[in-house]
Amino acid sequence: MDENNTVAEATPTSDPAVTLEQFNAFLAAKAPEKPCTECGITEWGVHGDADSDTVFKGFIANGISAAGTEFYPVTCRHCGIAKLYTAQVVERWVSDAMGK
Ligand SMILES: [Zn+2]
Repeated sequence: MDENNTVAEATPTSDPAVTLEQFNAFLAAKAPEKPCTECGITEWGVHGDADSDTVFKGFIANGISAAGTEFYPVTCRHCGIAKLYTAQVVERWVSDAMGK
């Protein structure tokens, strides 16, 4: 990956994750619901914390270094395939569109 293509480079942060409401607004604006590409069923699940109303944010490390990518997962409730939305893109949209 070259210097101009490092959109997702990140280290794990303690920033508060976006809320379920904010993430659902992001999905509605940027990735309208479609049937699953694997099984054809339209039953997507967003994974969150019911107590804090925030969406779980995952992290993929780049080898043994701290650099990596944060993402928000959406999974098919029928076949289990996962789609990952880059946290930086989601959080930028939430900040711009919703004044987070
Ligand atoms: Zn599926």
